[in-house]
Amino acid sequence: MKQVSPSATLKLTAKAKEMKAKGLPVVNFGAGEPDFDTPDPVKEEGARALRAGFTKYTPTSGIPELREAVRKKFEEDQGLKYSAENVVISCGAKHSLYNLIQVLCDPGDEVIVPSPYWVSYPEMVRLAGGKPVFAQTSQNESFRLTAEELKKALTSRTKILILNSPSNPTGGILEEKDLRALADLVVKHDLVCISDEIYEYYIYNGLKHVSIASLGEEIKKRTFVVNGASKSYSMTGLRIGYLAGDAEVVKKIGILQDHSTSNPSSVSQKMAVAALALPKSYRAGVRDLFQKRSVLMQSLFQRAKGFKPFKPEGAFYIFCDIEKTGLSSERLCERLLEEANVAVIPGKSFGSDRHARFSFACGEKDIEEGMRRVIDWSEKNVK
Ligand code: PMP
Ligand code: GLU
Repeated sequence: MKQVSPSATLKLTAKAKEMKAKGLPVVNFGAGEPDFDTPDPVKEEGARALRAGFTKYTPTSGIPELREAVRKKFEEDQGLKYSAENVVISCGAKHSLYNLIQVLCDPGDEVIVPSPYWVSYPEMVRLAGGKPVFAQTSQNESFRLTAEELKKALTSRTKILILNSPSNPTGGILEEKDLRALADLVVKHDLVCISDEIYEYYIYNGLKHVSIASLGEEIKKRTFVVNGASKSYSMTGLRIGYLAGDAEVVKKIGILQDHSTSNPSSVSQKMAVAALALPKSYRAGVRDLFQKRSVLMQSLFQRAKGFKPFKPEGAFYIFCDIEKTGLSSERLCERLLEEANVAVIPGKSFGSDRHARFSFACGEKDIEEGMRRVIDWSEKNVK
């Protein structure tokens, strides 16, 4: 635990919520959670499950109907064929990732994490006794991990490559040609790939989500696809995540859950079944709404002195180069929170001190008000 830091995203989101509860007019660009309500059919299913007394232990790896719904989802969305034995349900995608890394990573193993990265990957690797090795990406190359950078990070101890497309925090994606080059290396070096696809449905500008696992049998065998209900269906508090991959590893994750959490919440599992049954139009509607917010926030950034945003291709974050403000990312975020009451996450916690992460998972009014304050602040404080 001495090597592990608290989650900056959770800490700042909690602080912003607390300030808001005290009556301070905080605009929260920190939160990595959609502002809209959980869809009604999902809530109704939860109420029905409660009334029916579905409140007892379930099979540790998930109720059969949810494992089947997840299996079907992978097939319908990406043509990925799994059987229910390849699927395990956990208490959020974070838990899926944590379990997977606990099961796969031995002390001393190296895990390649493209940087900037989501805050929890390196810490999960350290919690398993592994060593995170960062592979650099850059804003000039749309934060795409290239085969060259991956090669530079490889050693004889490399075991796992973590991919996250669309990416938190950058909003960058990996297109099929990028994924093919990475998949070739994963197969050639006999690595395991963890593909975190939690922002799969948030993808913009007509781009298409591609799962690395769909690029052939060899890469599929070595890949674990992680996803969950939090972001797609605004179910962050209900804690349902899942993954699919090699049946032996999936079985071991079940054993780990047997002795740690047991099953994910019974009622939440029923709600996830209802969520996965929602029509495709629901997801397209949410994506269009978020695309609009993304465009709005980007256009307002044009007037913020010293801020150079990356145009996101997916997820719901704008990762912004703040070097010209002359401040470290932590100092900038402290000052924005204190002086403008705008909560933003310092890039340092994602591996880049010259960036800050602005979430647009809030309403348009908040985006307009928060960005007005950022623009005013920049006029007064940036040379
Ligand atoms: N992966 C990424 C990249 C995320 O941003 C999140 C958000 N917390 C998660 C996984 C985990 O989500 P959850 O545990 O809520 O399913
Ligand atoms: N993933 C979200 C974020 O990055 C939620 C917080 C967390 O779990 O890290 O803000």
